[in-house]
Amino acid sequence: MERWICSLAARRLPCYPFTMSESKHNDVIILGAGASGLYCAMHAARQGRKVVVIDHGAKPARKVRVSGGGKCNFTNLHVGPDNYICTNPHFVKSALARFSPWDIIGFFAENGITYDERDHGQLFTVEGAGRVAGALVSQSRRAGAEILLGREIRSVSGTGPFEVDAGGDLVVGDKLVIALGGPSWAQVGATDLGFRLAKQFNLPIVGQRPGLVPLVFPKMEQDICREMTGNALPVTIECGNDSFTDPLLFTHKGISGPATLQISSYWKVGQPLIIDFLPGHPLADFIEDNRSSNAQFKNLLSHLLPKRLPELILSQDLAGATVSQLSRKQIEVAENRIHRFTVIPASTEGYGKAEVTVGGVDTDAISSKNMECKHVPGLHVIGETLDVTGHLGGFNLHWAFASGVACGEGL
Ligand SMILES: Cc1cc2nc3c(=O)[nH]c(=O)nc-3n(C[C@H](O)[C@H](O)[C@H](O)COP(=O)(O)OP(=O)(O)OC[C@H]3O[C@@H](n4cnc5c(N)ncnc54)[C@H](O)[C@@H]3O)c2cc1C
Repeated sequence: MERWICSLAARRLPCYPFTMSESKHNDVIILGAGASGLYCAMHAARQGRKVVVIDHGAKPARKVRVSGGGKCNFTNLHVGPDNYICTNPHFVKSALARFSPWDIIGFFAENGITYDERDHGQLFTVEGAGRVAGALVSQSRRAGAEILLGREIRSVSGTGPFEVDAGGDLVVGDKLVIALGGPSWAQVGATDLGFRLAKQFNLPIVGQRPGLVPLVFPKMEQDICREMTGNALPVTIECGNDSFTDPLLFTHKGISGPATLQISSYWKVGQPLIIDFLPGHPLADFIEDNRSSNAQFKNLLSHLLPKRLPELILSQDLAGATVSQLSRKQIEVAENRIHRFTVIPASTEGYGKAEVTVGGVDTDAISSKNMECKHVPGLHVIGETLDVTGHLGGFNLHWAFASGVACGEGL
């Protein structure tokens, strides 16, 4: 039926005609049917709350479905506060202390989902990410939560009760949870609505940028990347005080692979990266051990590095020099290029290629106990919309679940 929603007009929102179903009163409205929103919905509904979840996607949990290359790296056995980037590093402690990897393993076990442990304590599902999305949806519904899909969120108003225009339907609730993630990977429905709504409620946004993202080298260094595209090698990569030792992959215009993705979440435009292409293998010792060799330096190095790399990062003279004739100065130059290769990336590959959005709603404005905004009682923010970014390895989904349960049980 066509109606004029004059309660919205009274709150100085645009008053326009729209088709509206009878608005039912809810205890909780959750915006976003992703990992954090659904997990929160399930826990809130289990506490007896009347919960409605709203999402613009035709399918819920689309990011979960593509996570971990389709296998969903859903947690990490070594999860702890040090795995998170947050302006206030203490913020995550409370939620993490109350939610361990065994909690989510237990939830999956109840839903027939098993896991494989990979390097560095990363847990991936055996059955695939689709099963995780399915379990989140079915268990939220079983607990009594209503999930409205394919609904554009046109406006949000009120400060408790809150009113949401969801594709023409007025949805009213005493509490509102923003679980809209960040804008990375728009191809699965990500938007910046979470940040825009936060601003509407005067919540500050800090340091927003793409994270876990490939980096683009400046034009001068792109020749190296083009020649090396597809080659991977273990490196230590450093930015300021932070460093990671992991594989690096050359792309046609820069670098990717776990080491790059990890450091990209710390990198800010203009900062240099220092790459050690031979971590744990001091070049000077290796040369000393082969001091009598009459091989060309680049050929000796090909025992340790991908064949083309020495020629690309050393001068022709140095790469072609005979090992036995290398001067002290030449060894120093080689050490600098191989152990301390310095580059200032031109950019990241942007939100389209970023697995996460770094930064977000300032956690100083949020209770670390139940994710409620300190100055708007009843408004909560969870998951990636917050200024909490996990390292690569299952930490982001772990945070989505941990913040979801902290909020859901504390509503
Ligand atoms: C390719 C890829 C792979 C990843 N793999 C992993 C992994 O293996 N392990 C890991 O820990 N992390 C991984 N991540 C990160 C992880 O998926 C996210 O950090 C996590 O899903 C965030 O949960 P969230 O609930 O905060 O947001 P999301 O899961 O993104 O949920 C937000 C929800 O809000 C909805 N929404 C957004 N805008 C609107 C709007 N305007 N109107 C209505 N609804 C809206 C979306 O449709 C979505 O359903 C990966 C990310 C990507 C992109």
